Amino acid sequence: MTESHPQTSAVFADRHIGPRPDEVARMVQTLGYADVDALVDAAVPASIRSTEPLRLPEPASEVDALTELRGLAARNNVATSMIGQGYYGTFTPSVIVRRLVENPAWYTAYTPYQPEISQGRLEALLNFQTVVSDLTGLPTANASLLDEGTAAAEAMTLAHRSNKKSKSNRFLVDADCFAQTIAVVQTRAEALGLDVVVADTTDGLPEGDFFGVLVQYPGSGGVVRDLKPLVDAAHESGALVAVATDLLALTLLTSPGEAGADIAIGSSQRFGVPLFYGGPHAGFMAVRAGLERSLPGRLVGVSRDVDGAPAYRLALQTREQHIRREKATSNICTAQVLLAVVASMYAVYHGPDGLKAIATRVHEHADSLAASLRAGGVEVVHDNFFDTVLARVPGRAADVVDNARQTGIWLRLVDADHVGISCDEKTDATALGRVCRAFGVTFDGSLTGSALPAEVTRTSEYLTHPVFNTHRSETAMLRYLRKLSDYDYALDRGMIPLGSCTMKLNATTEMEAVTWPEFADLHPFAPIEDAAGYVKLISQLERWLAEVTGYAKVSIQPNAGSQGELAGLLAIRSYHQALGNGDRDVCLIPASAHGTNAASAVMAGMKVVVVKGNDDGTIDLDDLRAKAEQHQERLAAIMITYPSTHGVYEESVKEVCTTVHEHGGQVYVDGANLNALLGLAKPGQFGGDVSHLNLHKTFCIPHGGGGPGVGPVAVAEHLAPYLPNHPLLEQAGPESGVGPISAAPFGSAGVLAISWAYIRMMGAEGLTAATKAAVLTANYVAKRLEGAFPVLYTGENGLVAHECILDLRPMTKETGITVDDVAKRLIDYGFHAPTMSFPVAGTLMVEPTESEDLGELDRFCDAMIAIRHEIDRVVAGEWPADDNPLVNAPHTASAVINDKWEHAYTREEAAFPQSVDRTAKYWPPVRRIDGAHGDRNLICSCPPPEDFE
Ligand SMILES: *Cc1c(COP(=O)(O)O)cnc(C)c1O
Repeated sequence: MTESHPQTSAVFADRHIGPRPDEVARMVQTLGYADVDALVDAAVPASIRSTEPLRLPEPASEVDALTELRGLAARNNVATSMIGQGYYGTFTPSVIVRRLVENPAWYTAYTPYQPEISQGRLEALLNFQTVVSDLTGLPTANASLLDEGTAAAEAMTLAHRSNKKSKSNRFLVDADCFAQTIAVVQTRAEALGLDVVVADTTDGLPEGDFFGVLVQYPGSGGVVRDLKPLVDAAHESGALVAVATDLLALTLLTSPGEAGADIAIGSSQRFGVPLFYGGPHAGFMAVRAGLERSLPGRLVGVSRDVDGAPAYRLALQTREQHIRREKATSNICTAQVLLAVVASMYAVYHGPDGLKAIATRVHEHADSLAASLRAGGVEVVHDNFFDTVLARVPGRAADVVDNARQTGIWLRLVDADHVGISCDEKTDATALGRVCRAFGVTFDGSLTGSALPAEVTRTSEYLTHPVFNTHRSETAMLRYLRKLSDYDYALDRGMIPLGSCTMKLNATTEMEAVTWPEFADLHPFAPIEDAAGYVKLISQLERWLAEVTGYAKVSIQPNAGSQGELAGLLAIRSYHQALGNGDRDVCLIPASAHGTNAASAVMAGMKVVVVKGNDDGTIDLDDLRAKAEQHQERLAAIMITYPSTHGVYEESVKEVCTTVHEHGGQVYVDGANLNALLGLAKPGQFGGDVSHLNLHKTFCIPHGGGGPGVGPVAVAEHLAPYLPNHPLLEQAGPESGVGPISAAPFGSAGVLAISWAYIRMMGAEGLTAATKAAVLTANYVAKRLEGAFPVLYTGENGLVAHECILDLRPMTKETGITVDDVAKRLIDYGFHAPTMSFPVAGTLMVEPTESEDLGELDRFCDAMIAIRHEIDRVVAGEWPADDNPLVNAPHTASAVINDKWEHAYTREEAAFPQSVDRTAKYWPPVRRIDGAHGDRNLICSCPPPEDFE
């Protein structure tokens, strides 16, 4: 451990890692080893160990890392952006910045799979769904998608599978959609064998059949057109219609739903979420009645708890990808929860009138700009627009854009003759004056007043629910945010031992730079010279990630693990095609794989062949050889997770890789479990050709309650030509690349400083020490719990990797007490449950991470052991099988502090079992939730307040 002064030394690793040296010594002793290194040597197969230390810069202290980040920030040159194209200036209300964006009670929460401890964010997400549904005029909206481009791609596949009438595989995309949206749709379509036709639909549909149509409203060039004729024509020809749209515009414009559209998609960024150089932003999707059960992504719905009280939970959870696997229709897992929550709170803060006032101001700015340009003799292409003016200046466009940049304004260079100018919440008269000067005209502030004709003007109401009409004062807003975050259990309360999710510390220093204006206020299509700080940060981060994984090249563009998987598989596909092996399309996937693996393979146009597991959880090598041989003409790849999803280091991994290589396949190593490898072994060295990483697991980006995430894809040299690229930025990837996987050139650039800071402050030694500590804590928990709940799989020397699976099935068989009961009872003890029933049904998977100290680990183990004793009392007949603290868990304050108490156990036993701290008790706001009830009666927007009386 380091002893030098904290300001100059590598002391951060000591803060990141939970156990103190004396605690490490005690844990190692419990496990019967001399020291951590002896334990790690016994757990990790020597055959995969790296022999050299990681080549990373010497670790920086927290102070020095922030200084370096300040330096990078200073190299970004933030101008006023009027580029538009899905990214607009917006003011995040300060109360939302401080109480939400910068508040660990919100950003360190996990995906709300345990609804009883997630009511706060579930309510916020239901508000988000209501915003989207009301404004788009479509009844069901999901709780966010990754961005607008991928939402458009999801709309295409949704239309394809839902359109039972059409036999066509052609998808029509209106030419006035955002360029990045068209490109993302094309990347996805190519792999699926769908045909994208890009055409101007202003005067009607082109010849031929289409299963679906995508149109942008308002268009990329700003035009607002009446959607109705297009929608009618498309429906007549048997096509479904998806509309890419803008929530702020919809406060003034007739909604897509009213025009008869089937699907609406878009980005909610301009509802208070900074530009972030392209992301993270919450994409959205809403659908008409009849399509709700085919929606991709997560959907929050209203159900009730055992007392009949209304309660929220994820609806239709069977749509979740880990259950659907190769039948999956989308691979999205991590979404953009935190950003969706911000957007929803922006709507709560402003209310319908406030939003309409903002939209009106934005529109009037655009309108006055058009009036001045015209008065000065500049041609304005469209008569009808919301916020974007398209000016025609033959041969002068580049000059105009340059002139504007000299005065601190970014405009959009459309082509040699056209300039696009988008107004937003931040636009003011000064900016408009400068824009006019760039064109050589004078801004006089007068309006045309005619840019929004009656046939597109909205008359229907929206956001009439009280939640959008009661929190007008800052006091009320502050308390609403506080009330919801108090409902939830996040890392700021205690450990979240979720296997496969790596809920480690998200250090405050790592978070600092995210909201600095130099990082937050940069438009993704700003001139790259103005983003020099980002470019440097990204190239350093990509290089470090390549180093720690043993690959040649990394792209940080994919904005979730699932997207990294798709990018990696598309790279494999292109590689085979380039070698003339385009018919290699079989993807082997072990039975225990994460659901996104199979779903991504399907989306990459591959056929999934499942490889069996042995009873000990390892891959069945005989079955692997047989399948590899059987498919050797068609073998494209295998997707393995390492350490396996069973939480063990499989000795046979090298043999698995060799077998697949010998049969012409590529090896995809799912990097979600990299927390067990960093500094000890490199997937790119032990046989992998490509991996994705989850920066929101291993590299400290907070989980955000279900997003944001970043899923970089890392590849060996021969796959590097097939990394993602971007049509609007050459520097985003190789020219020979597979196209964009995300809408923005660098994906969720706005959160990359977090992972950068983590690696910068940990250094090679710190990262390796963290991995060792993660292996230590997992083995310690496994050891302490072995008497209460047996560990299902172990590797060499009876050890696990960085997580362990507790087998509850024998206990369930004997007692009827289920994993659910144990998970809910843990809430009474003040814990978030471990991962339930993945990868094995009826089990709990525990991943403590390196950040939890011995006190917290013991508190968890003590709780689990105490629960085991409670189960024994049920077995002994002391408590009836249908009335005990387990089956009735969790217990709310209201259930316990009630004049009526008719249970076989005491109130004391219900609420304050054993180790619970009475002064800091976490009370869940609802009792156990009946999910099936809500699925039968699907309600996915804000219910009337009477329901809560
Ligand atoms: C989390 C996870 C994924 C998916 O990553 P997302 O970022 O949620 O899309 C894939 N594989 C494994 C093993 C995981 O744990």
